[in-house]
Amino acid sequence: MWNRNVETFIGCDKDFQDADIVIFGAPFDSTTSYRPGARFGSKSIRSESFGLETYSPYQDKDINEIDVFDGGDLELCFGDTVAALSAISETVKEIITNNKLPFMIGGEHLVTFGAVREMVCKYPDLQIVHFDAHTDLRDDYLGAKLSHATVIRRCHDLVGDGKIVQFGIRSGEKAEFEFAKYHTIFHPFNFHGLENVVEQLQGKPVYFTLDLDILDPSVFPGTGTPEAGGVSFIQLLNAIISLGRLNIVGCDVVELAPIYDQSGSSTAVACKIVRELLLAISNQKENI
Ligand code: MN
Ligand code: MN
Repeated sequence: MWNRNVETFIGCDKDFQDADIVIFGAPFDSTTSYRPGARFGSKSIRSESFGLETYSPYQDKDINEIDVFDGGDLELCFGDTVAALSAISETVKEIITNNKLPFMIGGEHLVTFGAVREMVCKYPDLQIVHFDAHTDLRDDYLGAKLSHATVIRRCHDLVGDGKIVQFGIRSGEKAEFEFAKYHTIFHPFNFHGLENVVEQLQGKPVYFTLDLDILDPSVFPGTGTPEAGGVSFIQLLNAIISLGRLNIVGCDVVELAPIYDQSGSSTAVACKIVRELLLAISNQKENI
């Protein structure tokens, strides 16, 4: 007997009602400042996830043991940033209204803003943990307030000072680094200080946003704005496992642009990161 062909991230085949975590893709890249292509990220991650095992030997957990629904990719309007962000916000609202944890796969980094502005309504004390090569703290990019280069600044508009913790940053304008000194909790280049942050954020609701270009381009060339001097896969994996001790109420993984890595390795790396993040946050049920 054949079953209908419905592709999900590997092992994420529960019904919406039964799921604790809800995956959806946000295939949008209209504000990408350099090389576009992140709109194909979520689709590639979903299909290439079948190259993985569902079992993680790092965490001794299996995706088959957790309850995840994959709702596929949203249909977003590439020519209308405001409409695309509204569609993302509506989706996140539906997920959190049903007391489930949203797990968004980009797309470019601006999609995070659509999620965070909805999360803040439910969690007024929301903290944001941000992994990235770039500050993303510009107030505007070529006049545009809504851009993947301004996304964390827009999140700061929502949550205020001292609520955004940044790691891995190694690129931005001088003014952005100055802004970070006074308004975010800033950890450049690597994950030094992460253990302290995990202790300090205990019990608080945390949104985790992962721009995959935090990885070194030797590991992850498949992205729009590669930035040399990044962290290794194992460093990122260990950091993600540490975040599993936080009260994560929502998360995203963004900025895979698969066409820039014809070997497919970047997509394989992204798939493995998604698996490990799913497993790391799978104990959050009682917190959301
Ligand atoms: Mn970013
Ligand atoms: Mn980046």
